[in-house]
Amino acid sequence: MSSAQPVAQQKFYRRRDPEASPFYRLVSDYFDEFEREYDPRYSMRFGFWRPVIREAIEKFLECGDLRKGFARVRCPECREEFFVAYSCKQRGCCPSCDQKRSLVLGIRLLEQVLQQVPHRQWVFTIPKRLRVYFRFTRGFLGDLCRAAYDTVHEVMELESYEEGCTPGMVGAVQTFGDLVHWHPHIHAVVTEGAFDKEGCFIPVQSILVDRAIEIWRGKVFDILFEAGLLDLEDIGSMMGWKHSGFSIDTSVRIAAEDHDGMKRLVEYIARCPFSLARMVKLTQDGKVMYHGSHPKCFRFPQLGSEMDLSPGMRRNYQMFEPLDFLAAVTQHIPNKGEHQIRYYGYYSNKRRGMRTHRQQQDANDAGLEPLSAYQLKCRITWAALIKCVYEVDPLQCPKCGAEMMVIGFIERENTDLIRTWLKAAGLWKEPAARAPPPEPNPLPQVAEPTVDYEFFDTTCV
Ligand SMILES: [Zn+2]
Ligand SMILES: [Zn+2]
Repeated sequence: MSSAQPVAQQKFYRRRDPEASPFYRLVSDYFDEFEREYDPRYSMRFGFWRPVIREAIEKFLECGDLRKGFARVRCPECREEFFVAYSCKQRGCCPSCDQKRSLVLGIRLLEQVLQQVPHRQWVFTIPKRLRVYFRFTRGFLGDLCRAAYDTVHEVMELESYEEGCTPGMVGAVQTFGDLVHWHPHIHAVVTEGAFDKEGCFIPVQSILVDRAIEIWRGKVFDILFEAGLLDLEDIGSMMGWKHSGFSIDTSVRIAAEDHDGMKRLVEYIARCPFSLARMVKLTQDGKVMYHGSHPKCFRFPQLGSEMDLSPGMRRNYQMFEPLDFLAAVTQHIPNKGEHQIRYYGYYSNKRRGMRTHRQQQDANDAGLEPLSAYQLKCRITWAALIKCVYEVDPLQCPKCGAEMMVIGFIERENTDLIRTWLKAAGLWKEPAARAPPPEPNPLPQVAEPTVDYEFFDTTCV
């Protein structure tokens, strides 16, 4: 990869140190105790223990750990070499992997899914009273996302006066609120209009929000009524509430050509349930302080006190006991097979498959070789991703600037080999013992690459 910058001025990939993050240390110090204490302390509120939590956390603790294997990268010019650790690829508990996943999603949506039309973010929320049902029956989360699409579809038909038209929607199920609490809601990237039967786009630039909310409310009631969780009396009484607790926000618009805006939006809707940058561990009594995403109204309380809020001001931080913080975070780890990103209407897998098939036929007719799905996937490499996050090129030699190559992989089973290589490179660290929790001590705040999320956030409670 050529660059006009002299080597000395360029930035290079620096391996992150996962063990330096306060969250890593909290997990490694307290997770075993948390699991032991789960039944008596948390199962009433959070439901039965889910084995997926331990599986995900075990893998998270190994994410980025060179002792668990690595790829070797070498410069063909000057023979400089470094190691790249494997990542855990877990959802909902590894900020680093969640961030990579959301970057891949943004690129994939732009390259393969979204049409060149304006989009809006639709955010669908439900009243507090109903949220608990989605915690105990996580299968309802998929139904909630479907209900959001059915609402969009119905609204677009009404607003465009075009029966049978189809909007495109990519829905993201989020289970968390700003303070890591349980708050199931749906973020969706929706075409600002719909496609008619011929595939022509009909713009719909504004909608009647009150009517949309009424449709949404009806569909959520249907889910819970059919499951026997609400009866007609419950529904009748909730219909009478002055503030229904149901809402739809469509205020964020992304123009057709605004690819950067779309990437930021996708990163936002597919982000990790918690942010390392907002987690502060206090020193005095070992509590975790987690603060909200609204710095403008954030008032840092006196350390150890929860007092410092003026009347009427929404609390935008939360103090947690260490085990309570783990309970809050791990409730957002999805079950296996629980899809958090879903495609509907014009963007459904079926409709996209049909379009791709047509494009391939057109390419064949024109004598071109179309890219396979596998080839498309390979275009997004980890190197490109790290470049997106850190604006550095991980495959560029830090000594001479030449392009480096992956020359081999050392798998985790080869423990002796791993130890030998890491010792020779001065990178070997003895594994830290797990638990019991140490004396509280000051922990550094770890900066993470961040996107300006403020713009998209319409659901902070
Ligand atoms: Zn990871
Ligand atoms: Zn080199």
